[in-house]
Amino acid sequence: MIPPIANNFVAGETPETAMAHVDELNQRGVAGILNLLGEHYDDRADADADTQAYIDLVEALAERDTDSCISVKPSQIGLDIGDDVFEENLARIVDAADCLVWIDMEDHTTTDVTLDAYERHARATDGNVGVCLQANLKRTREDLERLADLPGKVRLVKGAYDEPKEIAYKKKAKVDEVYKEYLEYMFEHFEGGIAVGSHDPKMIDHAQALHAEHGTPYEIQMLMGVREDEQTRLAADVDVYQYIPYGEKWFSYFYRRVREQKSNALFALRAVVGV
Ligand code: FAD
Repeated sequence: MIPPIANNFVAGETPETAMAHVDELNQRGVAGILNLLGEHYDDRADADADTQAYIDLVEALAERDTDSCISVKPSQIGLDIGDDVFEENLARIVDAADCLVWIDMEDHTTTDVTLDAYERHARATDGNVGVCLQANLKRTREDLERLADLPGKVRLVKGAYDEPKEIAYKKKAKVDEVYKEYLEYMFEHFEGGIAVGSHDPKMIDHAQALHAEHGTPYEIQMLMGVREDEQTRLAADVDVYQYIPYGEKWFSYFYRRVREQKSNALFALRAVVGV
């Protein structure tokens, strides 16, 4: 059972609880991106089981009237076991899905194989896939150029992994600066398929200004439990997607969310001590 405090960031342990959350969210004009928690499997049975869970999920989503979709981690569907396992399982999910299949981006050692898989499926499905790029990686400008003319969607995030300084910007101010530059590149060169994966008001404002200037369509993506009121407010003007983790492996995800933001930590503390 997930304690009530963690329920702010995780939509229960089962696909049913996650889809009930999506229904509620849709009432607020926000769509969902469902993510079954799990990563870094070294046993093929675990990777195959989560692949099957995603196939069941996309079939269940297809029966509902919702714009919601899914997001998958490469190491959850077999990348640590072998590139071939990841590619085979990703193909099974993409083949089964009517909805868009997002591929999360993990640490820099996985970037090439993830982008290669994305490119293949983007061409084969005429854009029914999306991939995440991380502004903190120095290679990202070139990756954006590679993806600019492909069908599909690209989610730009700041980057969640602690990468070596040789290949990544380490200072927050520098990451913020390049994030804005990459947004500018996307609004100028992408025909659509831009997803702003950030809670940062400065990045959202910048995207809104670029949209006003260039007219390029875009969407905003935020995590469940973070700036929820803002998600609803923004949804009046732009497509907003909430990334919704669920599943039995909720503890480490919840712990990360609480550690990374003081406001989340205070919120958790208040819930625990009842003030
Ligand atoms: P930050 O730089 O953390 O914060 C900037 C400002 O945003 C803060 O000053 C504050 O004003 C506001 N803010 C941020 N958090 C809060 C909060 N909890 N409450 C109130 N205000 C807040 N990373 C990956 O490496 N790979 C992925 O595949 C990936 N997928 C993601 C998908 C989504 C939908 C999102 C939203 C993030 C994803 N990330 C991923 C994580 C991302 O890389 C960042 O680590 C994370 O989003 C924090 O950066 P930020 O841009 O939100 O803002």
